[in-house]
Amino acid sequence: MATSSCPAFASAPRAAVIGAASRAIARRGAPPTGAKRRVASTVVPRASADAPPVPAVDIPHTNDEWEAVSPVDFAADVSAALAADKVVILGKRGALRSPGFVASLPESLRTVWLEAVAAVQAGDNGGKRSIMVPWEGHGGSLKDVVVGVLPTAVSRHNCPAAAHAVDAILAGVHPPAHGRTLGVITALASTSDAVPIAVAVARHFPTYTAKSVRGGGRGGVERGRVALRGAVLVAQTNTLSRDLDEETSARVVAVARAVRLASRVVDTPPAAMDPDALVGEAAAVAAELAGPTFGLDVAFDALRYDALKAIGFGGLVAVGDAAARDGREPALVHVKYRPHGAAEEGRSVRKIALVGKGITYDTGGLQIKGKSGMPGMKTDMGGAAAALGAFKALCQLRPHHVELHLVLCIAENAVGPGAFRPDDVVAPLSGRTVEVNNTDAEGRLVLADGVAYASGTLGCDDVIDVATLTGAQMIATGKNFAGVVSDDEAMERACVVAGRASGDLAHPLPYAPEFFTKEFRSKIADMKNSVKDRSNAQTSCAGQFIANHLDRGWNRADPDGSGEETEGRIRRRGLHVDMAGPATNKDGRGTGYGVALLVHLISGELYAEGK
Ligand SMILES: [Zn+2]
Repeated sequence: MATSSCPAFASAPRAAVIGAASRAIARRGAPPTGAKRRVASTVVPRASADAPPVPAVDIPHTNDEWEAVSPVDFAADVSAALAADKVVILGKRGALRSPGFVASLPESLRTVWLEAVAAVQAGDNGGKRSIMVPWEGHGGSLKDVVVGVLPTAVSRHNCPAAAHAVDAILAGVHPPAHGRTLGVITALASTSDAVPIAVAVARHFPTYTAKSVRGGGRGGVERGRVALRGAVLVAQTNTLSRDLDEETSARVVAVARAVRLASRVVDTPPAAMDPDALVGEAAAVAAELAGPTFGLDVAFDALRYDALKAIGFGGLVAVGDAAARDGREPALVHVKYRPHGAAEEGRSVRKIALVGKGITYDTGGLQIKGKSGMPGMKTDMGGAAAALGAFKALCQLRPHHVELHLVLCIAENAVGPGAFRPDDVVAPLSGRTVEVNNTDAEGRLVLADGVAYASGTLGCDDVIDVATLTGAQMIATGKNFAGVVSDDEAMERACVVAGRASGDLAHPLPYAPEFFTKEFRSKIADMKNSVKDRSNAQTSCAGQFIANHLDRGWNRADPDGSGEETEGRIRRRGLHVDMAGPATNKDGRGTGYGVALLVHLISGELYAEGK
């Protein structure tokens, strides 16, 4: 009935407006965050309700467009960051108190600085204090300065930079509103702290957002548009207040941007970041690296459903089948980087494969996850995102000692009439058959194809796979450390060292195939895909399953099985990184974990010239 429904409709928008207004009033009346701990007392009025509306932009498509929505930029020197509307200054107490650093601060801040730093109590997660400081050229008003003190000492398995505490210090520091800027100044005790601290800051302000903005009239929103945010300007300086050297600066920027790329890919909802979109992200990275800006020798290739089936990528085809029938086909992406001049000069370079698990959504398949187990499964492509980000950052640093192969195993593990079943037997590219006993152990099936391709078809010397693979990883090494399994002690050690240096922590798990092979025993196939005994080092077992599909001749002194060892043949190595825990933070947001770890590992001591 039209007459009775009219008042109901009429009252709805009014109620909404009243609600919004009372929320706005409550916001204005509430004391600013951290007011209790302020050293100086004056409270500066925040932006009022009659501030201009936040501008919106069309939902971004490219990475550059995304970065423009909520920019995190790296300033060349401290003065630009100090000029921001709000400033966070963080570092270890010694660095913050060092005369060189203090001298770089403006006069009004310098007079209260040492007292403010001394007043901060720093526990295991550091500490902070907010002070209001009179500021020249700030319209005569006070400036909000957050002083963050990182813990001086950390345990031996942690990153010495204490990068873990950056997030706690920045907790409650939100990305600035459009038109405003936040300056983050990091006082470094050592240049080696630059990357882990920058990465921690970069991941605190993730790129992806679907927040709508008010506009288009009363209480309306602008469809298909997202709100623009202000800029975060990061400046890093050492205790002598010197700028970072050029090489470190370039590495910081490349890694931090790649971390934000990886976290955005993970955060994007599954309908938007489907297999096609993930292939598109990799294609865009390859095009950028090969394009005029970088001019690198980078080649992109993607195999889709028909090709995968014809060549024999049984894992990708099985896992991706249900979604493929809905038009979302699985893919194997291969991007190759060759250092300039290596072929011409006859230089031999080590061939490294980064193989990433890219399950764009994991329902668990027919053995479906529950209503609380499934939410968050858009993040099941964290490994592919990390490998993609690391590949991009590494290429930008133009390594001349390695040939890099990015291999992304992309599929959506969906439920549908075409879904693969428990009891099916699938044959990954290795040719070794797998009896499926768990459709939710799908990551290892697609990675089996990936490592077989990297070791066999591509003939890579080192195969590194990265994946959000097992819940058991969190039981074994927790939320902060990835669990890593390697057949090579030097590689395992290098990975742990790279973790400590980069802040992307990693801890070794047992490598002992003789204890784990039996877990996958099958009566009808070469192996099953899920373990029999769930309390026998599940994460090591999962790594072992993947290693079972490395090319048979790989890692052997006589690859053709002739019994004659090939002269001068280098030992090949495998590394499995299970990053189920650290891939997301407590809010479920992608952390971009793995980018910094892989960049450090591959540009580190393990691959130093002549090794
Ligand atoms: Zn799964």
